[in-house]
Amino acid sequence: MCNSCNPSFMSFMRAYGGRRDALRRLGSGLLFTGLPGLAAAAGSAAPPALPTPARSGAADVIFLARRFHTMAARRPQAQALAVRGGRIVAVGSRAQVMGLKGSGTQVVDFGDMTVLPGFVDPHMHSNFCGLRPWLDVGPFTTRDMDEARRKIAQAAGAAREGQWVQAKMLDPSLMPGRPLTRRDLDAVAPQVPVFVLESNGHVAYVNSKAIELARVTRDTPDPPQARFGRDADGELNGRLDEPPAFQPFVSVLPKPSGSEFVGFLRADLDDASARGCTALHDCGIGGLYAEGDIALIEAAMKTDPGVRYAGMLVSTHMRKWREMGLRPGEHSPRFTLNGIKAWSDGSNQGGTGYQRQPYLNSSNRGALNYRPEEIEQVVRESHDEGWQLGIHANGDAAIDVTLDAFERGTRGAGGHKLRHRIEHCSILHDEQIARMKALGISPSFLIGHVHFWGRAFRDRLLGPDRADRLDPCRSALRAGLRISLHSDYNVTPIDPLRCVQNAVLRDMREGGGVLNPAERITAMQGLRAVTIDAAWQCHLDHLCGSLEPGKAADLVVLEKDPTTVSPDAIQSIRIHSTWLDGRRRFAG
Ligand SMILES: [Zn+2]
Repeated sequence: MCNSCNPSFMSFMRAYGGRRDALRRLGSGLLFTGLPGLAAAAGSAAPPALPTPARSGAADVIFLARRFHTMAARRPQAQALAVRGGRIVAVGSRAQVMGLKGSGTQVVDFGDMTVLPGFVDPHMHSNFCGLRPWLDVGPFTTRDMDEARRKIAQAAGAAREGQWVQAKMLDPSLMPGRPLTRRDLDAVAPQVPVFVLESNGHVAYVNSKAIELARVTRDTPDPPQARFGRDADGELNGRLDEPPAFQPFVSVLPKPSGSEFVGFLRADLDDASARGCTALHDCGIGGLYAEGDIALIEAAMKTDPGVRYAGMLVSTHMRKWREMGLRPGEHSPRFTLNGIKAWSDGSNQGGTGYQRQPYLNSSNRGALNYRPEEIEQVVRESHDEGWQLGIHANGDAAIDVTLDAFERGTRGAGGHKLRHRIEHCSILHDEQIARMKALGISPSFLIGHVHFWGRAFRDRLLGPDRADRLDPCRSALRAGLRISLHSDYNVTPIDPLRCVQNAVLRDMREGGGVLNPAERITAMQGLRAVTIDAAWQCHLDHLCGSLEPGKAADLVVLEKDPTTVSPDAIQSIRIHSTWLDGRRRFAG
């Protein structure tokens, strides 16, 4: 699934944000003062330059540790690493590297710990930052529907007069218990208005106070393509189906300011740093506020977060990107625009992923979001202009159409040079893997599909044979493809070690064993998929992804070695610290 790639969710977020014009005034980051508070949030200083290199050949800093996994072919393991001017100048044994110690060199000894290249999340979204302050009642943080009710009650009890309870990520398909109703919400929040959004972005729930404020009554007609849920007697039951039904409520919800938006994104970046990331790749820039998205990211990057940022622009605004003169490459320090993002289909667990065969117990095969010739046209235009392409395809039939589009749209040249990708690439067959190899296309897997939704796919949506084809990491590697593992934040939390563990174990959170153990990979293969191979897919490998002379000193320091701990302990390894350009940016 990719909620973030869900047009309905985007339309909801646009309505929710209500800041399109304000963010547009930011232009391409030239007019930060156009929005009150944004300049202060963004800070006036440009990102700091790399530390001034030592005049001699001595290193600024030498890092020592029991083991460095470099992800470099020439020297996969090392015990020391020297940095000058934020760049790695030597990697090797202690004796080799300590030769670069001068009188001003700082030596940082990590003792028994393990050092890796900083993690790269190759597919996440900044568009969700506006929901950051909302109460999380989703399955990653909340056991069941009763606990969701308790959380909402607690928040309502703590609310001041005039405040709303805004909650997000509810997922009744994964959370046991009976559905939420208006009556439930009235019982826990008789005076405080409540708005609860499901993680799929298609359904929300409100209480009587919210209905009163939104001036919706039982006589209000349903909006086009949407429904106000009703009891048998016609009374509103508090359920809202599809974003047009959210609109009367969204228009009275409190909205964040531009500076708050920047603060929320910065907080998301800090969270990623705390999970060991030093680079993030946004797979939907422009999907919310067109050029305003770029301005928001620029403003957040000016606050000097501990991660570098790269991403793909949505294909729906190709004309605007041309008018703005955007080209693949560095957009501003630590912010690279390198690709175009397009969508073939929807979500497999939402029943909109496009399948070769119908979903279980159904005649529904899902659907394409665009006609095949339209997808091919996007490939042709982007490829000809030198952009990398990332095409979202979840169902196996959507992957067929996407591969056809790559084949025709690149006139057989495929993705070899531009590193074209298929995003999620969820239900993937061997002959499709062979086509990908021939075309030079690589997959980025939303590996949390296996852990969090694997049981739903196997038992309720696709059946065991097709569920076995979900995220076939081992088959892809065996065929010689480079793979990456991603969060699709906020579909799943940004946490590369959890992604590695999911790929190594393929265990299912709802129980029921392992989903196709033949597709398990080793911890080292998983680590490559969140470091060097992810960096390669994001066109960042000249800068990061491995520990080699000439690259940035982007490091994550782990208290244990993921390649030697029990596989079920990988995700709980403590992050000791995260370093960007040789500067510590997170301390655990
Ligand atoms: Zn996505």
